[in-house]
Amino acid sequence: MRICPLSLLALLIVLCVACTSTIQKEVADNDYKIPVYAWLGGPGELTDSQLKEQFNDLKKKGIDVLMYNGGQDPDVYRRVGKIAKEVGLGFHTWIPTMVQKPREELKTEWYAINGNGESAYDKPAYVPYYQFLCPSRPGVQNFLAGMYARIAQLDEVDAIHLDYIRFPDVILARGLWEKYGLVMDKEYPGYDYCYCDVCTSGFQQQTGIDIKSVEDPSQVPEWKQYRYDLITNVVGILSDTVHSHGKEINGAVFPGPSIAKKIVRQEWDKWSLDTYFPMNYNDFYLEDTKWIGEVTNEAVQALNGSKPVISGLFICPNPERKDQESDPENHGLLPEELTDAIKESMKNGAAGICLFTPDRMTEAHWQVFEKAIYTEY
Ligand SMILES: [Zn+2]
Repeated sequence: MRICPLSLLALLIVLCVACTSTIQKEVADNDYKIPVYAWLGGPGELTDSQLKEQFNDLKKKGIDVLMYNGGQDPDVYRRVGKIAKEVGLGFHTWIPTMVQKPREELKTEWYAINGNGESAYDKPAYVPYYQFLCPSRPGVQNFLAGMYARIAQLDEVDAIHLDYIRFPDVILARGLWEKYGLVMDKEYPGYDYCYCDVCTSGFQQQTGIDIKSVEDPSQVPEWKQYRYDLITNVVGILSDTVHSHGKEINGAVFPGPSIAKKIVRQEWDKWSLDTYFPMNYNDFYLEDTKWIGEVTNEAVQALNGSKPVISGLFICPNPERKDQESDPENHGLLPEELTDAIKESMKNGAAGICLFTPDRMTEAHWQVFEKAIYTEY
């Protein structure tokens, strides 16, 4: 449920850090720094020199690695990645997986079907861009593997970052119910995917259950597991592909995995990624920074400490207006909450944090951030 902040990119250039020399001197003697990642979209109309200026600024503010969303054209990542490397930033390409705009190479029947028989192709749930593909289709798997392979093979790219690697939200996060005028106390067929022939017949072959004849499919645990496995299988295919090009693969996941399983069918503790970026967006769940610590702890435990967990933090772009904002997309961490959010993440085993997004950070955010990322909690 992210807004791609392309339109806000221009703002970034004018955002200025209060980069006081005192703090820089203080930290000069201290080698400790929390690894910081940032989700960022672009490049829009920015020239090479503007990109360099933007990236230099982010580097100076303490960002180490960009999770960069710039469409699916390898040439864009080659160009932007080269500049990121020049300023010393890591460069991961942030490209949505199961959500894909219709185009000639994607067949209409490859889009996921909900419990009412409606296709995400022409009747997407919630919002027009929710055009999710069906994970069972070999054509979909091949399309995705090819698309990521073309980008993974670029020298300028360090890693592939998956997003929307899931089904549509069968349950919406509590903080979003009012926005969409919904009460999602249980699974409803209009938001429950995928009931296409390939998925349902595959399930019947495996279990003997004809899910279309079941009155309440949400009561069939095998059907839930089957769909967790479909997404896990896609991750496995993409992981093999990206690794074969000598690159790492990671992904943005929902909190948990308990919440992720329940609301978007991500059993991500079974996945084969190199790093996990749970989107610990507390405001979407009407929770506080303490909760960020709890879900970070759950993530670290679920992976048995075998893979790094980077805690994704959702930043409030207009702190002074948060109280009047009805749209949860404009909520997020206030400057006075940011240190605590970072502290809760790190104390509970995170290997770093990821900002959504640097262009939502106000000057007040950057000021506390500058101290927080050089503190050992
Ligand atoms: Zn399907």
